[in-house]
Amino acid sequence: MKNNRFLLHELSWQDISKIDKDKTIILLPIGSTEQHGPQNPIGTDFLIAEHIARKTAEISPLTYCLPTIPIGVASHHRNFPGTLWVSHEVFEEYVTEVLNSLHYHGFDKVIVVNGHGGNTSSISNAISYCNDTLEMTCILFEWWKDQSLIGSIFDGLSCGHADAVETSVIFAARPDLVQSDKFDSLTSASKWGREIGGLYLSSRTDQFTSSGIAGSVEGISQEKGQKLLEKTVYLLEKAIKEISKS
Ligand SMILES: [Zn+2]
Repeated sequence: MKNNRFLLHELSWQDISKIDKDKTIILLPIGSTEQHGPQNPIGTDFLIAEHIARKTAEISPLTYCLPTIPIGVASHHRNFPGTLWVSHEVFEEYVTEVLNSLHYHGFDKVIVVNGHGGNTSSISNAISYCNDTLEMTCILFEWWKDQSLIGSIFDGLSCGHADAVETSVIFAARPDLVQSDKFDSLTSASKWGREIGGLYLSSRTDQFTSSGIAGSVEGISQEKGQKLLEKTVYLLEKAIKEISKS
């Protein structure tokens, strides 16, 4: 354990003025506020990203975690109550300007810890701009990308939406918010979207899943979710060590 001062927003400006910026890595958690099935909180994506980023910052030297950006690109979930969203354009500009403000203060090494697939292209564009134009070193980290790791823990499953994998992860991160009494009655679409030969025929989630879930709901396990979270934190910690050398 490093110490308990790894959340940048808990420091004062005088504390921050003393940080060696060249050696520091900043973690920026970003998620979404959108439906995640009947059993999970609508904050699932940003709560998972925040959990991973904070756990990693806690154990990594010279690493600080920013406050989480909780609302992203999620209009495809709009017909489920509580879902919030902003447009691609606004989101990309917002993330770019947050990264730019870090650059202004001398923090040029940033890992964006994203918890929502709908945000990926906007964040990638923001990162490209900051790396190319501001000469920052920004990297995108997404916990569901290591399919072989997920498959090894969840008996060959890949990650869907509010499915067994994602539900297990939020169940491990925030057991107080997951409604496990609903697990036995969950229904789901077997895959994301109606699709023919790679051509997607639906633009809104409610067109292919009435519960909001896509993917298998068999085998939800807090223990497996915890294992995946621990391995993910380990991977991110390893990435931080590599970036620190550059
Ligand atoms: Zn999600």
